[in-house]
Amino acid sequence: MEKADVFAMALEQLDSAARLLKLDANTHRVLAHAERALTVALPVVMDDGHIEVFEGHRVQHSSARGPCKGGIRFHQNVTLDEVTALSMWMTWKCATVNIPYGGGKGGVKVDPTKLSKDEIRHLTRRYTVAIMPIIGPHSDIPAPDVNTSAETMGWIMDTVSMFRGSTVLDIVTGKSIELGGSLGRREATGRGVMFNTIELLKRLDKDPAKTRVVVQGFGNVGSVSADLLQKRGCKIIAVSDVSGAYYNPAGLPISDMIRYCSTSKNRLLEGFDAPGISKVSNAELLELDTDILVPAALEKQITIENADRIKAYAIVEGANGPTTPEAERLLVSKGKYVVPDILANSGGVVVSYFEWVQSIQSFFWTEEEVNKNLERVIENAFAAVWDLARREKQDLRNGAMMIAVDRVAKAVQSRGIWP
Ligand code: GLU
Repeated sequence: MEKADVFAMALEQLDSAARLLKLDANTHRVLAHAERALTVALPVVMDDGHIEVFEGHRVQHSSARGPCKGGIRFHQNVTLDEVTALSMWMTWKCATVNIPYGGGKGGVKVDPTKLSKDEIRHLTRRYTVAIMPIIGPHSDIPAPDVNTSAETMGWIMDTVSMFRGSTVLDIVTGKSIELGGSLGRREATGRGVMFNTIELLKRLDKDPAKTRVVVQGFGNVGSVSADLLQKRGCKIIAVSDVSGAYYNPAGLPISDMIRYCSTSKNRLLEGFDAPGISKVSNAELLELDTDILVPAALEKQITIENADRIKAYAIVEGANGPTTPEAERLLVSKGKYVVPDILANSGGVVVSYFEWVQSIQSFFWTEEEVNKNLERVIENAFAAVWDLARREKQDLRNGAMMIAVDRVAKAVQSRGIWP
């Protein structure tokens, strides 16, 4: 399937929620469009002296409930279509967990593994200046996403600060602690995945100690999800990254694997070995005999091509958009649960919100306070989604989307259409 389908997938999810909510056609039409999309060309002088021009985007889907919020990704497959879909998902995500933001997303089409650190820094600074007219602490606040990190956020914050002539801490979230970042932000998305998984297991009366988990992706989301789920007693039987998938039905040594990646080339698991581990393909990983599957990589990993072979009884979406609507319908019809991305991976943006609040107040919380507040937000959001889904006899995505779309629709309606 084509990358160009990702926004169509987001629209299909919106249509489904709109139908269930009996949303009026006018509001539906407004929500189906992104408010603003900026595409920029980014010339960068490469280390060998030649000039490369990269394409970047920043899309703001909705500011109805507050400033747009969402990450920036660096990936060779970035397209405007993809960034638009991701920005719409951010709107629903912030509304599902009820934090006062709309949705935005940014992306640069680049394979960062092919660039030196200097080249990436120059690209980041150039991209920041190019999108500066539309970002701001009260209009649109970027954060990390695929292949970007606290270091990238530091460069963005510094670039904006140089132009403004004073330090602007609240322009981005996901910064390092030294630059006003929040304790617990780096782990927050994975921690949220863990909380969501535990909430689901509770509802299904399952014991974490008897639960096997497969995680696709071993970046910031996948590695922390695996680590924290293991600490809660689950057995992590397989993980993967672009170097392949690592499988041991007896359980993997996740902390060793995380330590290995901290010094390995491109932070990949490539070359990692331990007793009992066999290598399988990424496709095989998704179809392993497991209880829970956490796709924590990219979009459209679970499609109508492989959905029928998925053995997990529950999928907890660490990534954004890993399951196509068609595949999801099939999984749900077989009695499986899909904890949707807009709930499952919302921990990152929730702690981004905490970071933004702390930056604005220049008053910083302890890690314990951050984690406790995150747990409370996720528990409440999960309960609301679960209860609504049961009441309406819907799957969890429709449950979450009904809550989210209703909140955004009410904001649009109470503001009225300008002028
Ligand atoms: N990129 C993350 C996401 O997709 C975090 C966004 C944020 O913190 O603003 O949810």
